[in-house]
Amino acid sequence: MELFNVYPVTPINIVRAKGSIVWDEQGTEYLDLYGGHAVISIGHTHPHYVESITNQLNNIAFYSNSVLIPIQRRLSTLLGEVSGKNDFSLFLCNSGAEANENALKLASFHTGRKKVIAFSKSFHGRTSLAVAATDNPSIVAPVNQTDNVVFLPFNDEEALAEAFASYGNEIAAVIIEGIQGVGGIREASIPFLKLIRSLCDQYGSVFIADSVQCGYGRTGLFFSHDYAGVEADIYSMAKGMGNGFPIGGIIISPKFKASFGLLGTTFGGNHLACAAAVAVLEVIKQDNLLANAEAVGNYLIEELKKFDKVLEVRGRGLMIGIELPEELAQVKKDLLLKNKIFTGEAKPNVIRLLPALNMNKEMADRFLTAFDERLKA
Ligand code: PMP
Repeated sequence: MELFNVYPVTPINIVRAKGSIVWDEQGTEYLDLYGGHAVISIGHTHPHYVESITNQLNNIAFYSNSVLIPIQRRLSTLLGEVSGKNDFSLFLCNSGAEANENALKLASFHTGRKKVIAFSKSFHGRTSLAVAATDNPSIVAPVNQTDNVVFLPFNDEEALAEAFASYGNEIAAVIIEGIQGVGGIREASIPFLKLIRSLCDQYGSVFIADSVQCGYGRTGLFFSHDYAGVEADIYSMAKGMGNGFPIGGIIISPKFKASFGLLGTTFGGNHLACAAAVAVLEVIKQDNLLANAEAVGNYLIEELKKFDKVLEVRGRGLMIGIELPEELAQVKKDLLLKNKIFTGEAKPNVIRLLPALNMNKEMADRFLTAFDERLKA
């Protein structure tokens, strides 16, 4: 049977990993600064993570959400503590798309409205509402096409204010990534996020902070949107939450308690996924990984800005986009082929770094040396 894969596949068989290092079948070592697209948060095969999942597997892997699941409670307590959002409620699901799907559905249900504001170059997932709010018509099926989603230019305060002035009372939600990932590591501006907050307050709309890629400590803040000093109503999460184990979730402001009844799932919050997610948070907390992401990330960003050939360095903490002139787009491929370093890309000429949050300065230096070598070549 032919295996379907929508992504361009790198012909390397990765069979083993530890921390930010991965090995292929031949034993060749690679530095992983892609983290499986922002998924690897505490490093591959972290001993505490392996132990937590193994112990859980030996006790019980799954039972339904119709019973009390103590490890879910442990996860919600820990998440409240590490994120600082103790007064929010947690709903657990299985992926980023499902998290956004539920956030949008909840917003519509709660407000009784249909319109959603999303932004140019957004990516929110591939399920029906999530994909309808994603600015990529090539992945939207006719059944998902809807006039209910309006795309506005990213960071354009005037366009946003105009939209609310003309049909604000119909807007259920505004959904925005704090830093667009797939869209090329583009950060929402502080005035823009503040304006979203105040317009949502004024018109009774729901502010959804898609934190699937930029959240979970990646930028040095638990939720990247919070650098603007405003709080969203719902934060969606996935990727780094399980360090490779599929899990997603939304945390929801207490304002929406009355509408929680429409949220549900079979697998969401299963014991094994929770064991993975609890271990991730324990490591983030014990090893102070938010501070590490900020320190190593800022170091990388400042050093990268010193390269003449780099057009722009964007991002925050360990979510970094390096824009190169188009004729240097080959650098990303050569970093892998010649220097054995995995990175990601946004457009062919934007290198994306999304490493584990415990990546250290030596690894940053190894990347900077290799990057310098590639630019000189
Ligand atoms: N939101 C953002 C910002 C993402 O980057 C992604 C995945 N690239 C998603 C949502 C969808 O997540 P998933 O693939 O887990 O459904």
